[in-house]
Amino acid sequence: MRIIMVALSLTLVVFATLNRVQASATADIFSPPLGYHDGLQYAPRITYDNSHNLIENTNYGVKNPDLQGLKCFGVDWSQLYHAGEDLYRTDGSSTRGAEVTAVANGTVMFADPLIDWPGRVVIVKHVLTNGQTIYSVYGHIENLAVVAAQTLARGDKIGTVLYQAYTGRYSQYHPSGDDSHLHFEIRYFYDGSNIYPAPYTTCNKPDNVPGVGYTYPGIPDNFPAPGAGYTNPSAFIRAHAGTFLPAIGRCPGNSYEYLVNGNFESGSAVGWAQYSSGGYQLIPYLPGYTHSGDYFAFLGAFNNLSENISQTTTLPADAASINYSYWWQMTTQEYPSADYDYLRVQIQTLDGLGNVITTGDLYTVTNRSTAGQWVFQSHDLSAYSGWTIRLIFSDTTDGSAPTNFYVDDVSLPICGLSGPPYSAGTPPAGTPTPFRPAKTPIALTPPANPVPKTPPPPNIAHPAYP
Ligand SMILES: [Zn+2]
Repeated sequence: MRIIMVALSLTLVVFATLNRVQASATADIFSPPLGYHDGLQYAPRITYDNSHNLIENTNYGVKNPDLQGLKCFGVDWSQLYHAGEDLYRTDGSSTRGAEVTAVANGTVMFADPLIDWPGRVVIVKHVLTNGQTIYSVYGHIENLAVVAAQTLARGDKIGTVLYQAYTGRYSQYHPSGDDSHLHFEIRYFYDGSNIYPAPYTTCNKPDNVPGVGYTYPGIPDNFPAPGAGYTNPSAFIRAHAGTFLPAIGRCPGNSYEYLVNGNFESGSAVGWAQYSSGGYQLIPYLPGYTHSGDYFAFLGAFNNLSENISQTTTLPADAASINYSYWWQMTTQEYPSADYDYLRVQIQTLDGLGNVITTGDLYTVTNRSTAGQWVFQSHDLSAYSGWTIRLIFSDTTDGSAPTNFYVDDVSLPICGLSGPPYSAGTPPAGTPTPFRPAKTPIALTPPANPVPKTPPPPNIAHPAYP
């Protein structure tokens, strides 16, 4: 993630010829700076690796761990707070060339054709209906389509997104192969050239009116003064969208993880309810068997079991996307003649009292599914927006020839207005917490006298336990 504005060495020219400024219309309605005409979706990026470590976050007001190596006043960029949002196409394609448009009626205050942030920067002044003045800032653009003092209407073209190479640590998470993006700010002040206090003034450049896009040591809301600094751009636009409800840009710019302990690394007492008819611990510590980390969910492995783990959460009604994903693995001693042992991935809807309204299967794994390897599965749960849901992994095994079902790295990231309604780490009400004996998958050996359910086909070797 390279959102850095390089230190300016150019001699800049002030283009604002204020005597040419015409009165612009009041900024009554705001729309997102990308997607106005192309209908595509753009949003900040927030990425976790398979162990659910945050590796990249381009939202407003956060530190981005993927900002490596470049420093301002001796502090690593990864420790600075992002003063805007870096917006990317959400479909993984390159954002290069995307049309940048004015978010509201206003007047161009800054449109230096020589500044190298990299790319050009445009600052537009907007006067709100209450008389307040705010500024929108568009960074890393080319094909500059405006000049200082020009009056703009909402949706007018400002430029296009500049190509930038990706130089961070995780190219595997950048399928487009580049790092082209729009750095976008909403702020209550115009001149960002001198906002850093001592001893951090090295970042202050007298001709760098846009600023450097980051604040330190405080959060951008308070720079250069509390209540007069930057503000969350997506939140501001949503709050001023009026009756304009674009299909694009519905994501308010934040993605929240709605599951607690989805990777199970907090152990068995956090987040998940569990039930095992055999009394087994279903979230054991078993390094070497997991998809990542040291804990996972371990269902099955013995005969005549009925087990489940579940977690309940309430989805936001305004979610722009709800993606449910997990990894599973199956190993078995079963005969391949039929499905005997099952892992069901289920979803329930609950009423306000917690009573189950509906139960449905999202996915089913059996002893005849792909064996011996981790498989990624995902589901679009957008249709459940606004519902209280329970997500369940449930296994049943029959009377012979056991099957192991593993689940790990369960995730429910939601693009919405607000975060999850629970306190992280709080188990659902009613979670039983008895002592549970751990299962031991390595102790599973083929039974001495397996009882065939139906005669296995001839010459088919009984699958070996790994
Ligand atoms: Zn940025």
